[in-house]
Amino acid sequence: MTDPATLRHTRFANVFGLGDAAGTTNAKTAAAVRLQAPVVVKGLLASIDGRTSDAAYDGYGSCPLITSYGKVVLAEFIYGGKVTPSFPFDPRVPRTSAWLLKTKFLPFMYWNLMLRGNEFDIKHRERPLAAVS
Ligand SMILES: Cc1cc2nc3c(=O)[nH]c(=O)nc-3n(C[C@H](O)[C@H](O)[C@H](O)COP(=O)(O)OP(=O)(O)OC[C@H]3O[C@@H](n4cnc5c(N)ncnc54)[C@H](O)[C@@H]3O)c2cc1C
Repeated sequence: MTDPATLRHTRFANVFGLGDAAGTTNAKTAAAVRLQAPVVVKGLLASIDGRTSDAAYDGYGSCPLITSYGKVVLAEFIYGGKVTPSFPFDPRVPRTSAWLLKTKFLPFMYWNLMLRGNEFDIKHRERPLAAVS
């Protein structure tokens, strides 16, 4: 059982968890692991130095849902199921731009940025969505 923000084990202070096996309530996605990893690294390094880390994970997860060939719904949310779209569009609408993000940009980002230790993120802001009639 890990603390949802620090990802530190709630009983064993020198144990951290991340990814699909972490006992947190976020959606289990690679997008989550990407943001959890720096929190765990900072927590581990602080723990080794006898300090506490202020790094925190907000539960972000992202699921690119393929709705048809060439269209994707990009579902992004944080803890509590709060919807936090990165782009100023209605995230419920299947889009070609989200398809291109998933099929072109995300693989590029994975191989060329993430695996080389580069970090960047778009701030996670909750956006309440109007009811669909
Ligand atoms: C079909 C599918 C599609 C997905 N699509 C997306 C997506 O579009 N976007 C997204 O963000 N996420 C997606 N995900 C989720 C994403 O793949 C996972 O959340 C992510 O891989 C979890 O990473 P992890 O390191 O925690 O676990 P894993 O990637 O599962 O890594 C665990 C590793 O541990 C190894 N292992 C297991 N047991 C042992 C053992 N006893 N000894 C040694 N090694 C062991 C396994 O072989 C594996 O390599 C998808 C998942 C699936 C199944």
